[in-house]
Amino acid sequence: MSNIDTSKMSAGQREALELTEAARGNDEDRSFAGGLFMGRCAWDQVYPFPEQSPADIEAGQPFLTELARILRDEVDADQIDADGEIPEPVIQHLAAIGAFGIKIPKHLGGLGLSQTNYCHAARLLGATDANLTALLSAHQSIGVPQPLKLFGTEEQQRKFLPRVAKGEISAFALTETDVGSDPARMKTTAEPEADGRHYVINGEKLWCTNGTKAGVIIVMARTPDEVVNGKPRRRITAFIVEMNTPGVEVVTRCRFMGLRALYNGVVRFTNVRVPAANIVGGVGRGLKVALTTLNTGRLTIPAACVGLMQKCLDHALDWAETREQWGAPIGKHAAIGEKLAQLAADIFATESMVLLTAALVDRDPHADIRLEAAMCKLYGSEAGWRAVDDTLQIRGGRGYETAASQRARGETPVPVERYLRDSRINRIFEGSTEIMHLFLAREALDPHLKVAGAVLDTRLPLGKRAAAAMKAGGFYALWYPSVWLPANGTPAGLTPELAPVLAYARRASRRLARTLFHAMALHGPALEKRQLTLGRIVDIGTELFALTASTLRADALIKGLCPNHPREELLRLVVCLHRRARLRIDALHRDLATNTDDAHHALSRELLDGRHTYLRPKDPGLSRPPFPTAKA
Ligand SMILES: Cc1cc2nc3c(=O)[nH]c(=O)nc-3n(C[C@H](O)[C@H](O)[C@H](O)COP(=O)(O)OP(=O)(O)OC[C@H]3O[C@@H](n4cnc5c(N)ncnc54)[C@H](O)[C@@H]3O)c2cc1C
Repeated sequence: MSNIDTSKMSAGQREALELTEAARGNDEDRSFAGGLFMGRCAWDQVYPFPEQSPADIEAGQPFLTELARILRDEVDADQIDADGEIPEPVIQHLAAIGAFGIKIPKHLGGLGLSQTNYCHAARLLGATDANLTALLSAHQSIGVPQPLKLFGTEEQQRKFLPRVAKGEISAFALTETDVGSDPARMKTTAEPEADGRHYVINGEKLWCTNGTKAGVIIVMARTPDEVVNGKPRRRITAFIVEMNTPGVEVVTRCRFMGLRALYNGVVRFTNVRVPAANIVGGVGRGLKVALTTLNTGRLTIPAACVGLMQKCLDHALDWAETREQWGAPIGKHAAIGEKLAQLAADIFATESMVLLTAALVDRDPHADIRLEAAMCKLYGSEAGWRAVDDTLQIRGGRGYETAASQRARGETPVPVERYLRDSRINRIFEGSTEIMHLFLAREALDPHLKVAGAVLDTRLPLGKRAAAAMKAGGFYALWYPSVWLPANGTPAGLTPELAPVLAYARRASRRLARTLFHAMALHGPALEKRQLTLGRIVDIGTELFALTASTLRADALIKGLCPNHPREELLRLVVCLHRRARLRIDALHRDLATNTDDAHHALSRELLDGRHTYLRPKDPGLSRPPFPTAKA
């Protein structure tokens, strides 16, 4: 069980936390990104940058080439957006080339490709159409293929994987009307029948992507509580459900501001009998299945964001070069040039993070990449949103105009307006930005909770806490001075110009470790509630991971693995990333020391208490401001 003191939490909070804690993975191996929060840069884990092997490139090339061709020749993303439907022949053709079973092993009917090749496919999809990206991603990043690959029995794999690899669409149903980011209060139930051979599912799932088209889906449901130490503990279990089972009903298709051709629906279960043999990962392990699936599943969104950002850079550059205002191409005005540079830096950083993390998965499918993947999702979805917003700004009024309207006026249509509608959701689903901050903060604190959690845990007897304090004292007596020692070491053989960047990353990670420790010392257990403090700490760690991944990738590219990347250009890009990361990290440290957190907290409490009503006049036309206005 966790070392987090839950004694002062509300019952709901405690239950949510304990359930999530129980589902956390085996965290014995600290990852590279985890080490950053402890002042450790384990270069041996990431250097040299794990470039894709020629064999893996060769394995993926035929599929990726064919995918790119279909996306270029057969997909009209504006039409899909206008119709709210993906043409059936496109889906059929994608299924025929294996796009529904990219990572499913060959002997089970899939292509058996690596995570890196899967990320390349996501990038191609992200550059073309967000609806197709969501269709294929919900199907195989979180739908039936991934949980079954990770947790399925041999029989389940043999029964379902060949079907879904061929193109039978699958989905993942966790969310309910009252259950969003926090699954503990899930209402959908699965009751075992007397002989235990079947379960009966009742409930309703909201926003199930692919739900309206799926043949088979993964459903999370509450199975009867188990009793642990005399207390009931909730259990969530994952079931494979055939959509043609009596009692399964798609109640409605949901529609959104973007992703207009998403096959997303409310799925209702009324006395749906499911064989116990369809339980994935064991009774009570559903949340573990969901969270573990999402660990690698989360890489798809940032990989797709890379494709989207590359497309944005194309459009932004075209316009910045050709559009002249005030006597010069707009790209030459500093305010626009700044946006182009930020966009370029974001593409390289996000792609480097994604490729590094994907390579870690390919090197060891059991590698602990929870932090890296969450950082990719957090950084990539935010960068993707900035990229689209800036591209829209660069295109001015045309950015806001629909592609159809541009076409009707005789201009070449550029669908940035659609990109904006389609990409906003990336900051919300598969772990919102706020939830990614909390998730990463929990992982960043983990080594400290292991060492010192018992000291702060008021549930434990005093004697145990005193013994824990002695042990923690021993650890910190060595660790704390170590994060003050000068540390500039960089990997041997690194491109010399890049050494100062990694030396900085190493120093900055020690500063980060000290800052986290000081925050713990200052706030104690209350740190858990200081979301803004933790969020800044997490953002510093994420910036450092982005900078490190980018620098190491530039090093590999410079060393000639890819002759298309001239040395000076890469060095220039890394200089930009280095300066930007430094400034952002300094600003985050400044904000940790001086901020509006307490003032804003007090104001938000008053707002929630129903005060400051003058800000919400019932009739804005007639009501007067609360303060006297000066006479003219
Ligand atoms: C287009 C679309 C497709 C989707 N596809 C699927 C799918 O296939 N399967 C599925 O199961 N679900 C799906 N979802 C659901 C999606 O994953 C949820 O929307 C997401 O988990 C957030 O839940 P929520 O919308 O209920 O927001 P809530 O959890 O109610 O959160 C509302 C806001 O509060 C923030 N917040 C919540 N808790 C905290 C906290 N403790 N601290 C700080 N901030 C917090 C959130 O970040 C968010 O900004 C989809 C949703 C959409 C819109």
